[in-house]
Amino acid sequence: MEAISKPKKRIFLALVLASTIVTAAILYLIWKVSVPGLTEINTMLPAIFGWLIITVVGIFFIGELGIVLAILGVPMIKIIYYWAWKAINFLFPFAVGLGRIFNISKSSIEQSFVEVNNNLIMQNNFKIPAEKIMILTPHCIQLDTCVHKITRNIDNCRTCGNCSVGDMLTLARKYGIHMAVATGGTLARQMVMKVRPKAIIAVACERDLTSGIQDVFPMPVIGVMNERPFGPCFNTRVDIAKVEEAILFFLDKGDNDGR
Ligand code: SF4
Repeated sequence: MEAISKPKKRIFLALVLASTIVTAAILYLIWKVSVPGLTEINTMLPAIFGWLIITVVGIFFIGELGIVLAILGVPMIKIIYYWAWKAINFLFPFAVGLGRIFNISKSSIEQSFVEVNNNLIMQNNFKIPAEKIMILTPHCIQLDTCVHKITRNIDNCRTCGNCSVGDMLTLARKYGIHMAVATGGTLARQMVMKVRPKAIIAVACERDLTSGIQDVFPMPVIGVMNERPFGPCFNTRVDIAKVEEAILFFLDKGDNDGR
């Protein structure tokens, strides 16, 4: 069984910080070797480019500090949060590259990314109407021997209890939220376009959660990691209590008093 221990936020945060330092060092070296050429064009150019680099790197550092403070519960202005998260998404591939050097697996970094994302989302106080919340999950969560076509119409599920689809559908009906099962990223995007939710509870592996969260940003997504007792992409499951916790977090309680 593929066990998933609690992901550590610090893995991703440390790698993003290290990526910024490496980026800053590279930019400094580029600036240093270009100074003679730039001076020949215009004596002001080295200073202009120098300050440009300092500003860009400074924004990254402030963004990262903002993310850490937000995770610690310090309120953050929405616009800073937006740009900080954009900066982090930009640095994500560098963080993965750096992780490779330190022998940190991509999946650990992705799990850590999802954990950081969830923590940031949890710092907000959402009040979203039920019909604007959506559970989105991949097809591998359906029992492989099930004959019911649930990707076209989720109501074809008989909620027989043999896989997590039925449990999630029961929750979706209880709270009046949307639920969709997608066979791939394109279909998932189409389903999101159709429902136009204001918040998503995504159930998937760390890889799909990471790309999905980045795809729909700035829409809030809580990522719930699936369980893979038979290995990846086959008869996966989900801890249904975590899904319900995420629904209740987003739900406007005044709009829905526990139907
Ligand atoms: S819960 Fe639904 S999808 Fe899962 S096996 Fe039963 S009928 Fe099929």
